[in-house]
Amino acid sequence: LAKERGPSSIELFTPLLAERLQRKFEVASELRRAIRNDELTLNYQPQIDCKTAELLGVEALVRWQHPVNGLMSPVTFIPLAEELGLIGLLGDWVLDKAMVQMARWRDQGHPVPQVAVNIAPQQLVPGFADHVRDLLAKHQLPASMLELEITEGALERDDRIIGLLQALRDMGVLLAIDDFGTGYSSLAHIKHLPVTCLKIDKVFIDDLPDDAYDVAIIRTVSALGHSLGFRVLAEGVETEEQFLFLVEQGIDTIQGYYFGKPMEASTLEQWIIDRDKG
Ligand code: C2E
Ligand code: MG
Ligand code: MG
Ligand code: MG
Repeated sequence: LAKERGPSSIELFTPLLAERLQRKFEVASELRRAIRNDELTLNYQPQIDCKTAELLGVEALVRWQHPVNGLMSPVTFIPLAEELGLIGLLGDWVLDKAMVQMARWRDQGHPVPQVAVNIAPQQLVPGFADHVRDLLAKHQLPASMLELEITEGALERDDRIIGLLQALRDMGVLLAIDDFGTGYSSLAHIKHLPVTCLKIDKVFIDDLPDDAYDVAIIRTVSALGHSLGFRVLAEGVETEEQFLFLVEQGIDTIQGYYFGKPMEASTLEQWIIDRDKG
């Protein structure tokens, strides 16, 4: 390993490692503080039903308003939270916060039919389904208003996960496979998953409709998803051309900058009002 890193790596290894460890401890305590002090916030990105052009729901996406670093992307701190063993704490915060917002929208009469929440693999432990049930009861929300997004990586780990997902489905919670196509899932495996939606990853959307390979993938996943009874969503849709092509391929739902970026709850409320007017 040292050889691969180059000749100077042996001398550099110890101080660098110490520095890195030190920094990690700092981030861990900062992240703990952030969760406690509400430095984290959720943004919501619209998902549009292709058939009706109506708002089908939103995805909740976490942000960290760091006092020194400014607004931090989950791409940087979610993997850290996973590594530092803080993802359970963070995930619980996200779920509760999303449900507080869902209850608020319900009370205000805002038409946000469902909210999708990302779930890290480490959150799928025994007792998770009960935890979700308790939270839904606490906020008096119907289970069908909540969708949980799970990546393929979480599913390959353990067959017991399927039992857990089934328990969530039996409660009425919606389940989506996130970033579909980027991980490993055998078709035989997918058939047995109690999921309700496939979210096709942005990497397959970016070069549409020119890239023949991506076109073939979209056609295949759309057909596969529908034949298994799943809703099929395309993420990262940025252009009208992509949108029209995806509608043509029978994709059910669109999420992407073309319709709306992730936004604060109040901005989303105004976005809904403006859209209803226009
Ligand atoms: P994801 O769940 O696949 O979320 C979609 C990401 O694509 C979001 O990035 C969203 O802002 C971005 N996106 C959506 N449409 C477009 C588009 O048209 N163009 C471009 N360039 N990007 C688009 P974001 O918010 O930075 O989140 C990144 C990832 O962080 C998420 O990917 C998810 O894996 C993770 N994440 C976010 N929030 C949470 C959370 O609460 N819990 C966990 N465990 N993970 C989260
Ligand atoms: Mg997601
Ligand atoms: Mg995704
Ligand atoms: Mg992702």
